[in-house]
Amino acid sequence: MKERTLERTLARYDVAPHLVFWETTKACSLACRHCRASAQETALPGELTTQEGRTMIDDIASMTPRPIIVFTGGDCFERGDLFELVEHAIGVGLRVGVAPSVTERLTRETMSRLYEAGVRSVSISLDGSTPASHDTLRGIPGHFEKTLEALAMLVEMGFRIQVNTTVMRRNAHELADVAHLLENLGVGIWEVFFLVGVGRGADVDEVSAEDAEDIGHFLVDVANRGMTVRTVEAPFFRRVQAERLAAAVDDPAVHFGLGSLYRDLSGSLGERFPDRAGHSATLATGDGRGIVFVGYDGEVHASGFLPVSLGNVREVGLGEIYTTSDLLTTLRAGALTGWCGQCDYVRLCGGSRARAYARTGDVLADDPACVRTRRTRRIQLAAR
Ligand code: SF4
Repeated sequence: MKERTLERTLARYDVAPHLVFWETTKACSLACRHCRASAQETALPGELTTQEGRTMIDDIASMTPRPIIVFTGGDCFERGDLFELVEHAIGVGLRVGVAPSVTERLTRETMSRLYEAGVRSVSISLDGSTPASHDTLRGIPGHFEKTLEALAMLVEMGFRIQVNTTVMRRNAHELADVAHLLENLGVGIWEVFFLVGVGRGADVDEVSAEDAEDIGHFLVDVANRGMTVRTVEAPFFRRVQAERLAAAVDDPAVHFGLGSLYRDLSGSLGERFPDRAGHSATLATGDGRGIVFVGYDGEVHASGFLPVSLGNVREVGLGEIYTTSDLLTTLRAGALTGWCGQCDYVRLCGGSRARAYARTGDVLADDPACVRTRRTRRIQLAAR
């Protein structure tokens, strides 16, 4: 992304978020091992009411430029008023995405109703390329097959599908197979979550910084073949993209000193993925920077993985919280304290603030999943 374009984009994020994620409920019938929300079988007391949801939606619609609202959870289908809220959001001019769980509630009928209301974007989670890996994480035998069936149905219905995959040590080696699966299903958008140890994910292994770098380069390869690739809690992907673009080398493994994970993933991709020309630009969003998260109870956070409350929409409008929060203002200015703060890519990337907080208790500290924080440390120590 060119410097001027980047600064224009960031200036836009100062006045309004690009995406508002609303955790409509904690209720979900799945029990995924890495669940950020630590979702429950039944709803927790204190959920925003229908009227409170409508009021928040009106507030979001009054922002300029207008954000996109994503109804997430838990499982947004567990909310009896989902259709009413979605219709209201579309009625006041918002673009709406939904991120339902694959359960008995996700049917052709319920999805048709959302499509008729004007929803076009749906996110579905797929965390492995085989039943063994996906079902183990999701906690339900047969869920892998059901997810593939749901994806095929949604593609056929004309939705714009984004598949979310949470990457962790146990499934990192499967990523090329997942990419291949998505290509075969006709899914064009892949959002890869780099696990942050919060919620039930606190018990599941994050990948090392070196493996995260290998995966970042592999995802550039996928993006260069025409698939739209986004990352969550891994903004260093944009730094990797920029470095690849600048280097323009035939063998990134050698040039960047990448490891066996990159070689395996990318080698496997090359054998089976169509070689289309293309390059996917990603938005320069980050925690609290173009993104804001509203919890089931109205508490506002910089992201769903960052459990620092910025206020509650029951008391203050979301727009006011987003634009006036000291923490968000600091994050958007890139005024970080660790090695990230000294990095040339701080404006483009800025590191995962959620991971910095989870590891150190300091939102402004280094993102330990980025190899550059270590390289910078080594270079600076050597110079002393
Ligand atoms: S050091 Fe921090 S700001 Fe720089 S690329 Fe890594 S995560 Fe991003």
